[in-house]
Amino acid sequence: MTANAIEQRVFNFSAGPATIPVSVLESVRDELLCYPGAGASVMEISHRSKIFTEIAADAEASLRELMGVPEDYSVLFLQGGSALQFSMVPANLLRGSGKNAQYLVTGSWSKKAISEAKKEGDVSVAFDGKDGNYNALPAGGSLEIPADAAYLYYCSNETIQGVQFSEEPDCPASVPLVCDVSSDFLSRRLDITKYGLLYACAQKNAGPAGVTVVVIRKDLLERGDDTLPGYLNYRNHEQADSMWNTPPTFAVYMLGKIAHWLRDDIGGLQAVEQLNDQKAGLLYNAIDGSNGFYRGHAQTDCRSKMNVTFNLPNEELQSKFISKAASNRLDSLKGHRSVGGIRASIYNAMPLEGVQALASFMRDFASANS
Ligand SMILES: *Cc1c(COP(=O)(O)O)cnc(C)c1O
Repeated sequence: MTANAIEQRVFNFSAGPATIPVSVLESVRDELLCYPGAGASVMEISHRSKIFTEIAADAEASLRELMGVPEDYSVLFLQGGSALQFSMVPANLLRGSGKNAQYLVTGSWSKKAISEAKKEGDVSVAFDGKDGNYNALPAGGSLEIPADAAYLYYCSNETIQGVQFSEEPDCPASVPLVCDVSSDFLSRRLDITKYGLLYACAQKNAGPAGVTVVVIRKDLLERGDDTLPGYLNYRNHEQADSMWNTPPTFAVYMLGKIAHWLRDDIGGLQAVEQLNDQKAGLLYNAIDGSNGFYRGHAQTDCRSKMNVTFNLPNEELQSKFISKAASNRLDSLKGHRSVGGIRASIYNAMPLEGVQALASFMRDFASANS
């Protein structure tokens, strides 16, 4: 990247599409006009060409290795974002089953998911965090999930409210656990065998918008009904190696590069998990050490390590905070309109220096304005 372009880059705290490692962008730039051996850009070659088939296979293999995905799970690359999964999950796993699906409503994204699921079948709310304006998660041992439920659905990290499960909710072994991991995908280690299905759009933690990764236990592929629209049936994608139609080739290519960066530059999910703990700790310390100047939205036991949400004493100080931060190259800190306040999204690709700069800005701002 030219020195000038590098200098213009800010620390980007956007919730998504979000920051991407500079080394990945540079590598994409170097290959943009001509992918080695292709005589053309990745964007310009057939998804069925040998070169692209290898790129897609490598992206899948890299993800499988990073996440430790067992053989009896399929990894699919789909389009339609996580929003389409709100519908695809119940269309495949609930529609026509005569069963009931259980949902944990812990914030804006699981709320949207349940409203789509209701169109497909019988759905129950096993937990609803509405009374606390979605600042808390179900207490351990408090859920009662029937052993014959079609599945238990939850969102591991509510991007807007900034609440995150530190472990999977209690779920009977007979009930497939389904999780929207969009905003904490690849940010920590997971035991995939606890899940029936998990999915993530790429634009938070794993690349550009356009591709959504679905990891599904193979027995669940049998559930989709042949009357489903073809694109909506997971089985079609599995049988066609995610090439049932033209996949989002450029996004899949970048997803592969992000996986390589995580493995080679960061050292895998255990290493990134430690880094993410450290980064989140810096910001929560700045909140907790501010004598109440900053007030975190999430209760302390369910604070997100990806999206740190907090308020200032009043609207005026909030606007001042956002504009002063921006003039210090700390960008996109305005909270989502439904929660207000400040949201700092600190995904894998946000460097430690960016978080250190924000924590130090927060301390200076609080002492100058308290
Ligand atoms: C961003 C996000 C979504 C929506 O993703 P789209 O790709 O815009 O459909 C869903 N769930 C979570 C947790 C998200 O962070």
